[in-house]
Amino acid sequence: MRFVSPLLKHAVYPALHHSGWLNRITPPGGYGVVNYHGLIPSDHSPLDPFLDGNLVRPEVFRKQLQFLKAHYTVIHPEDFRVAMESGTPLPSRTVLLTCDDGLVNTLTDMLPVLLSENVRCLFFVTGASCSNNPGMLWYEELYQLMQIRPLSEPDLQLPVAPDDPIPDPYNFQAIWWSTVQKASRLDAKSRADWMALMRSYREPLPAFHSEKRWRLLSLTELKQLARDGVSIGAHTMTHPVLSMCNHEFARHEICQSKIELERAVESPVWAFAYPFGNPATVGEREMHLAREAGFSCAFLNVEYSTVGPQSAFSLPRIHTSLRTTLPEFAAHLSGFHARLQRAVGG
Ligand SMILES: [Zn+2]
Repeated sequence: MRFVSPLLKHAVYPALHHSGWLNRITPPGGYGVVNYHGLIPSDHSPLDPFLDGNLVRPEVFRKQLQFLKAHYTVIHPEDFRVAMESGTPLPSRTVLLTCDDGLVNTLTDMLPVLLSENVRCLFFVTGASCSNNPGMLWYEELYQLMQIRPLSEPDLQLPVAPDDPIPDPYNFQAIWWSTVQKASRLDAKSRADWMALMRSYREPLPAFHSEKRWRLLSLTELKQLARDGVSIGAHTMTHPVLSMCNHEFARHEICQSKIELERAVESPVWAFAYPFGNPATVGEREMHLAREAGFSCAFLNVEYSTVGPQSAFSLPRIHTSLRTTLPEFAAHLSGFHARLQRAVGG
């Protein structure tokens, strides 16, 4: 599939898209869920292709919404909730919009576009947004701190389990991801202390160029989103790799985020999105914990689930990125891309 992808992206999908064929086929299950991670704010540059790859430019976001309105029915999250809870099938060619993490640009940049296009989105935020000092996503800050200097300090070394894979020493992103996994085993306070120590070793830190790019929503801003009629879902307390957490810590991360967000927005939080949301980070245990916490459904961040039985706790989503073209978006949403991927075993 890796070798076929450029051909699909640059030739096959544009041809199918412009012929209108992709808009005549129905997503598997009749509906699709599109996932975002926020927009690139106008004051943010330069772009880091790895860190910013999950974000979308505002003008691309608006074009995607206009495409969806022309060819699908964009459902209100509360109507999606009713369908999940009652087991009622959704109308064919329905789309739910979601957005993970709760970066402040979801309020400043994304919400105005959603409101002007008159569509709704389900925002998944972490427990960090239940305080007025939310900071940034710890694993994005870790990436930046490790770019300043590798983690060579003896008191920053994290315990290694016997079956931990050894990352390629020349691959920065592999080393970073291995560190994210190991740090996910720490409880929230220990991880915050470890990050503070790492920060202290790297001072003076570079300036925080774009607050809208990096900072998470504060409690005041989260309440403002909820007042604007936005549906809020939970995304754990601290965004760890859940599969690396012990059972009690994983349960706490999931349950406590529901409790604290419900207190913050003063309404039920019925949906959950697994952090990172791929088969390496989510298993049947996490799906069981989300169900046990009282959520009505939970979302992955992959187009089809290979973990456990298909259920309301393993809902696939179409992941959009900085490089997603409109024909690609149409091919993924229609289910054509996933069907093709499965057909060739990719
Ligand atoms: Zn996330």
